Amino acid sequence: MLLSDKYPFLTNYFTTALSSVSHPLPQSILFYGNDLNSQYIIAKEIARFLNCKNDKSDNCECLNCKWIRDNSHPEILTISKVDNKPEDDDSKTVISIKQSSMIKERLMTASEFHRVFIFCDRDDEGNIAGLNPLNFQADTANSLLKIIEEPQSGVTFIFLTRYIEDVLPTIISRSQCFFVPSLTNVDYDYSDISGIFENYWTFKRNDVFEVSQKLADKSKESSVSSVLSGIQNYILHVLKNNPKNIEFVNHIKIIEDARTQARMGIKPQNIFDDICLKLIQPNK
Ligand SMILES: [Zn+2]
Repeated sequence: MLLSDKYPFLTNYFTTALSSVSHPLPQSILFYGNDLNSQYIIAKEIARFLNCKNDKSDNCECLNCKWIRDNSHPEILTISKVDNKPEDDDSKTVISIKQSSMIKERLMTASEFHRVFIFCDRDDEGNIAGLNPLNFQADTANSLLKIIEEPQSGVTFIFLTRYIEDVLPTIISRSQCFFVPSLTNVDYDYSDISGIFENYWTFKRNDVFEVSQKLADKSKESSVSSVLSGIQNYILHVLKNNPKNIEFVNHIKIIEDARTQARMGIKPQNIFDDICLKLIQPNK
């Protein structure tokens, strides 16, 4: 599947950011959420947008696009405990200070490419995994702060993590953070909430508790998680048709948090009240 089909909203956001002079692409970007593989794909797509010498289309065959697809681009580097280690670096479980020094050295020389450094981890099978305080420790993170915050054209840092709290606050405060929803196994089935939650942005603030009650009643028939999935699928369905509406990504995040609350045993009625208060005319 092509990225722009899978993530039209994020693709749209970044293409706008990349082509706009008044809002340049942030130098440091952090993605968070459960779907690390998709985060990595988006990171590589950003690198492709920044380096493509052609029309930036999904099937572009220019040398930069080809290199990035094969992970062989000389200036698009994945930085993990196993990727792009200097020769004298024998650390095996962390992103090391030596890797940080290597990046700094590279940045001292000019490049014809837009450099992108993608920081992440790998699991035992080599799949992309998220940064956390063990694999991306404070001393390494802090050694990068200066190059992250110093505006330098032609360089972008991208950090991938499951939970935003797993990355040092000093990195977070210098980065623009984006939640990436998980799209694994999305079937866009929202039958559970049809007739209850469709077009929720047109509801009135006064309706909050009535809608919440209907969701809670529905969850007794099916289950809380199935109602939450229904809401999430519905929002993804809306996003697919309104890719410019980044606001809906935040709504997906709210439902993701609600799932966590449900797992922690919080009462369904409270969960649905909370969702409705946050999603239905929250500013009124
Ligand atoms: Zn290209």
